[in-house]
Formats: sequence, C-alpha cells, structure tokens
Amino acid sequence: MKTTVQVQTAKRVPIFAVYVSERAIERAVATLRSGYIGDGPVVREFEAQVAQFTQARHAVAVNSGTSALSLALALAGVGPDDEVVTTAQTFVATSHVILARGARPVYADVQYLTGNIDPGDIPRRITSRTKAILPVHWAGYPCDMDEILAVADQRGLPVIEDAAQALGATYHGRPIGSLPTVACFSFQAVKQLTTVDGGMLCTQDDDAAESARRRRWFGIDRAKRRPTLLGEPAWDITEPGYKYHMNDVAAALGTAHMDELSTIHARLGQIDARYRDALADVPGLTLFDAAPDREGAFFTFCVHVERRDDFAHAVRSRGVDASVVHLRIDTNTVFGPLRTDLPQLDRLTETMICLPLHYRLTDDDVDDVIDAVRTGW
Ligand SMILES: *Cc1c(COP(=O)(O)O)cnc(C)c1O
Repeated sequence: MKTTVQVQTAKRVPIFAVYVSERAIERAVATLRSGYIGDGPVVREFEAQVAQFTQARHAVAVNSGTSALSLALALAGVGPDDEVVTTAQTFVATSHVILARGARPVYADVQYLTGNIDPGDIPRRITSRTKAILPVHWAGYPCDMDEILAVADQRGLPVIEDAAQALGATYHGRPIGSLPTVACFSFQAVKQLTTVDGGMLCTQDDDAAESARRRRWFGIDRAKRRPTLLGEPAWDITEPGYKYHMNDVAAALGTAHMDELSTIHARLGQIDARYRDALADVPGLTLFDAAPDREGAFFTFCVHVERRDDFAHAVRSRGVDASVVHLRIDTNTVFGPLRTDLPQLDRLTETMICLPLHYRLTDDDVDDVIDAVRTGW
C-alpha cells in the first residue's frame, strides 16, 4: 500500500512582493512583438502618464532610480570635492551616486518618528563646498519639504528628492514630483509600481528637463536628430552623456501599471490605516508619524519596538516577516567613518523595524500580521 505524505508548507507573509499585472505582461509582449523595443513611443506615453499623475512639468524616464539620482546630481553640477548634505537612513544608492561624481556625502540627523532628514540639522552641515541637498522620503513618507526648501533657498542650493519609495505621496495636497526640486522615482522590482527596473526624473525646470533628455542618451538630442544621406545622423555633443534611457518594453509595464496606480495607492493606504488602528495601543510599540498635512506612499510599515530581536523572533515564528529593510548606510567603509554626531539616527537604528505592506497582501494576511504583533513578544 502506498502512503502519501502531505507536506504542509507553512504560510509566510513576505516583507515585499513583486506585483506585475496580466495587462502589463500582455502589453510588454505586444511591445516585444512590435519590432521596436528601444526608447520610443511607449516611453513617451509612460512619461506623460507620470507627469500627469505627479503634476510635474517634465517627467524624464531612465533605466533606474539610481540613474535618475545620478543624472540629477550631474544637472546640479556636483563634481569632485563637492559636498552633498543628505541622510544616512536610506539605501546605499543615495550615497553611491554622490561618490560616483567624486563628491562626499555629509549626513544630517533624522527625525526619530519619520526616519526623514531633520531640516533643523541641515544648516550646520552646509559649507562652501556644498552643492545640493538630497533628502529621502523614507518609506515614502514626505519630508518636511517647506523647511528644507527654505534652507535651500536661503543658501542658494538645489534640492534633489530621493523619491524612490514615494510615488503616490502628497505634501500639502500636492503630489511628490510637483515641488520646485528634481524628484527621482524608482520602478525597481518591489517598489509600488515596477517596470522590472526603471526610474523617472521629475522637474519643473525646462532647461534641466531638456538637458536630462539629452544626457540620458549620450548627450544626443534624439528629438532634433535628422537623418542624413549616408545614415549616420549629424550631431554635435556638447556635454557628458550616459546610457540611462528607458526602453519601450519596460515602459509597456509602466503604462499598464500607471492605469492601476490610484487603485494600488488606495489599497496600500487602507492597509496602513488598519495597521495604525490595530497597533496603536500595543505596549512596547510606537507608531511612526502620520501628519494631516501629508500622505505617504506606504512603501513599507515602520514602527519602533522595545526588545527588537525578541519582536522579530516572535512575529517570524508566527509566519510574518519583519525586517529593518535598510539601516544607516554610514556604517559602510566606503562612505567614510561612522558618524558620531547623529543622536536621533543612533536611537532609530536601535528600535526601528518594518512590517509587510504591499499590494499582494490579502485581508487574511493583514489580519495575520496584526495578530502576530498583538500576541506580543
Ligand atoms: C530603490 C531605491 C533606490 C534605487 O532605485 P533603483 O531603481 O533600484 O536604482 C534609491 N533610493 C531608495 C531610497 C530606494 O528605495
């Protein structure tokens, strides 16, 4: 007699999950079959959608969020021995792009209850070498942009927003992407909207946008390119360029997902609200800020907890992934010595942890996350 052994694989609620819709797959396949897969009409369509959604005057598509940041720093003229005032509470990409230009990241402290740069700590970090201010909307929750822009205005510095996690966020009723800055979005695999890999540089400045469009593709203005008899278009390249452009296959995924972005954002907001409601009174747990003058993009759900190792162990044993996602990056040798003058970041590094918040979560998953935390640690 044959016996079958039922292997019960325990359910897990993952910290992140990729969301690619069937429509997006169909559109990408149609693009692959179209005979044109480079930077073309689908990228233009995707740019128009993102510009409309973010109310940016210009949206320039590139092949990653990192490329968008890198291009933004180039546009700001950041070069060797310059300094950029930024935050260490982010992914390493935010500071790597500064090093790549031969410049140095200078870290301002963060706010314990948002993880975002503290505008009050920026002025004392500014020197004669400072060329830009680079805040990050941690977990997609908007920074204090009025205060940051006031410091920037006063010191004549441009602001580059690392909005990699912030697509869909609003500040004082205006979408992130529409402020007088250069805002850089990411469409990497687990971001709220994915193109597999991709990014967008949003700006209100006509000259910056025109330069970005040239420089993302070797400094060549494709729109002004004219064919010649012998095939090689005539051009004169006047500034350093890169291979940062987006392709139509990635943009096909982007256009289909843009049609769903409002639905995705609303669902993420609903899960966030449920967590905030259900976890507000949990002893030993502190929620992050949610001010009425702004709305996050809900990239993940960060909280502060006492005895973090015990917390992580307890919720994981109940099938729920908890993760710090990213901790301070100045611990990496390449970014210089570990800073000792960031007391709020020190505090945050000891207690922050994130819970799953993404579009693939079912209502049951959300209940499981809440139960896993409320059971205690
Ligand atoms: C994802 C991310 C990036 C990098 O974006 P890519 O598209 O992966 O290059 C930069 N900064 C932050 C905060 C991110 O989350």
